[in-house]
Amino acid sequence: MRAELVVIGAGPAGLAASLAAAARGTRVVLVDAATETGGQFYRQPAAGLRAGRPEALHHRWRTWERLRDGLAASSVRVLTDHHVWCVERTSVGFTVHALLGPEQEEPAEVHARAVLLATGGYEHVLPFPGWTLPGVVTAGGAQAMLKGALAVPGRRAVVAGTGPLLLPVATGLAAAGVEVVALVESTGPGRLARRGRALAGKLPEGAGYAARLLRHRVPVLARHTVVRAHGDDRLTGVTVAALDTDGRVRPGTERQLPCDTLAVGHGMLPHTDLAEGLGCGLDGLAVAVDAEQRTDVPGVWAAGESTGIGGAALALAEGHIAGCSAAAHLRGTAPGPAPAALKARTRLRRSAAALDAAYAPPAHWPEQVTDDTVVCRCEAVTAGAVRDALGLGAGDERTVKLLTRAGMGWCQGRMCQAAVAGLTGCPPTPSRRPLARPVPLGVLARQHTQEELS
Ligand SMILES: Cc1cc2nc3c(=O)[nH]c(=O)nc-3n(C[C@H](O)[C@H](O)[C@H](O)COP(=O)(O)OP(=O)(O)OC[C@H]3O[C@@H](n4cnc5c(N)ncnc54)[C@H](O)[C@@H]3O)c2cc1C
Repeated sequence: MRAELVVIGAGPAGLAASLAAAARGTRVVLVDAATETGGQFYRQPAAGLRAGRPEALHHRWRTWERLRDGLAASSVRVLTDHHVWCVERTSVGFTVHALLGPEQEEPAEVHARAVLLATGGYEHVLPFPGWTLPGVVTAGGAQAMLKGALAVPGRRAVVAGTGPLLLPVATGLAAAGVEVVALVESTGPGRLARRGRALAGKLPEGAGYAARLLRHRVPVLARHTVVRAHGDDRLTGVTVAALDTDGRVRPGTERQLPCDTLAVGHGMLPHTDLAEGLGCGLDGLAVAVDAEQRTDVPGVWAAGESTGIGGAALALAEGHIAGCSAAAHLRGTAPGPAPAALKARTRLRRSAAALDAAYAPPAHWPEQVTDDTVVCRCEAVTAGAVRDALGLGAGDERTVKLLTRAGMGWCQGRMCQAAVAGLTGCPPTPSRRPLARPVPLGVLARQHTQEELS
């Protein structure tokens, strides 16, 4: 298939970008691994579930309706169930390589003059004793289950970790009938209050969540953390403890909370694999972009959480700016003004930076991780093995990986990399993953044969 612009990711950023570019006369193909458009924020219940009131699980439903209806009325060609594993530069543009369907064994290609990466982010979860027990899920996973499958992970839940995502998760589970025993947030209210000016625009949203937590009688344990999850073959409870101002557990404050579900998350990290494969520069752990959302590789734009974690509204603004810019450059013109999106981006980036600074995992979290705690779940590598690697002289993440196999499994370190960095004191470094997804050898072999024949 051929297009002028291929947009990868149909979340808020990709949808806004596709609509903006198509409205300016660009032939757009929008590709996503999910079976429906919407991304994480506008995740829809599977059609077979016949949800009567899907809007009950969402906020800003009107925006979703506008995006959904706009897409249906537009010329954008939507390819769902397409898992992109690589974007290749060619002499005339780019080839997007994808695998189709749930089996992900059948290849598909889209050729385009320009690419817009809107692949979002993934969850950051730090290990603690018991975190691999059945019944412990990620906060976003619990939310995805609720929004996408209309299912709850258990009857009695603790929601824990740090970050704004814990609020919709706790209130969403409570509204769905789960008894939420506590919302355990490691950040104290003082850290948010100190950034009051930058967060002023977030106050109504925060007040709305506070009211919902009160209505559902969800106790909030601020500046607390989960130090251990208990259970033999599944979760039966957690131990929580208060933190001091340095982020250390205060001795004597531990107490047990019985629960069958722990939804835990420590923020989000940007998806950068496809961008890195193309050679795009990074800014910290996110894809670096200029004022028009262009990366430093000509013909490649990026928007939304792949360029920094900031929420759905920021993703929409960045997507719009990127779509306008890509369309203009494909026409050989300058992008027209988009004052509303530019203003929104400035304001929302400011509040995202303030939230990022306020919400951080407790500084001394590695002290709670016992040597027998599994850190890399794919390769079953324990914290003890990671610490032993330091003793053997490993001074960077890559050497720890070579000595222990941590990060060599199916997820390619997406889940354990930050934990390994924290346990070893090695600075987190962007990891180079030439393939964004596991690819069957048969697909690679067929591609090689085709290239040789052509
Ligand atoms: C599990 C989860 C649950 C969340 N729940 C909430 C919530 O309830 N409330 C809230 O305020 N915020 C939530 N967030 C954060 C929120 O989703 C983001 O702020 C927002 O969706 C960012 O928009 P985006 O367009 O940048 O990325 P996303 O919405 O994440 O969209 C990215 C899209 O790219 C696609 N994609 C990624 N890689 C590939 C690939 N290689 N090939 C093909 N497609 C690909 C994904 O399938 C996805 O549809 C959640 C985040 C996560 C990870």
